[in-house]
Amino acid sequence: MLIEDALQDSGMRDRAEMHYLPPGEGLFSQPDIHEFLTSYFPDKRNVAIDWNHPLAGIDPANRRATFATPQGSRTVDYDFIHVVPPMSAPDMIRNGDLGWQTGDFQGWLEVDQYSMQHRRYPNVFGAGDVVGTPVGKTAASVKAQAPVVADNLVAAIDDREFPMEWTGYTSCPLITEKGQAMLVEFDFSLEMTPSFDFLNPFEPQWAPWFLKERMLHAAYNAMLRGRV
Ligand SMILES: Cc1cc2nc3c(=O)[nH]c(=O)nc-3n(C[C@H](O)[C@H](O)[C@H](O)COP(=O)(O)OP(=O)(O)OC[C@H]3O[C@@H](n4cnc5c(N)ncnc54)[C@H](O)[C@@H]3O)c2cc1C
Repeated sequence: MLIEDALQDSGMRDRAEMHYLPPGEGLFSQPDIHEFLTSYFPDKRNVAIDWNHPLAGIDPANRRATFATPQGSRTVDYDFIHVVPPMSAPDMIRNGDLGWQTGDFQGWLEVDQYSMQHRRYPNVFGAGDVVGTPVGKTAASVKAQAPVVADNLVAAIDDREFPMEWTGYTSCPLITEKGQAMLVEFDFSLEMTPSFDFLNPFEPQWAPWFLKERMLHAAYNAMLRGRV
């Protein structure tokens, strides 16, 4: 979206053809935002969506990308490509005993999604991108998980019941252009859980951009210093 915006700014938008090639049939894990983006990209930003295009290979010298589509291999020439690499936990989790051994979260840390305690090693707790949970790979999730882990860990040491649960809180500020963003917040239910009544999660607005650009750095830095 930022590249599309930069092309608009420079007056070159009509010279560019833009495609979004997701590997499957999803653009976002929250279904309403998935719906929204499915029409927003082509209708508002003139970005075509070519579904089911997992990247299989790339030839940077010739600027050519190959996708393994269900219909077979498709090669696309490009001038500029933005690739999101496959994500995984560090090798010691992915290949070791601490990760989920099977299922959707295979290779990610096997925690209970509410208590954040490891499901097989009760003296292990997890937080952050490394955990294998249905949603939550955001720093905002880490911020919500950290106190749960701290309090539940202390409770485990004291042999008490867990006092806290993570709700799956996930927050994605989607920057739609310079100065505009949408703040998407949801939890395990995949229902929207907006923190601010005055923000519409389906509308690019100035306030979420200001939050993301100017305010969140301070919050994340405070979190890194242990002030959750
Ligand atoms: C482009 C982008 C934009 C994002 N924007 C937002 C946003 O606006 N809001 C939001 O909430 N989230 C956002 N996120 C997500 C957020 O950055 C992550 O959820 C968050 O950084 C996860 O924190 P973490 O500490 O769990 O993992 P990481 O930040 O990945 O930290 C893990 C650290 O462990 C280190 N490490 C790995 N293996 C080893 C090892 N063997 N030994 C020692 N160290 C090791 C890594 O180098 C890394 O520094 C964004 C992510 C991306 C990629």
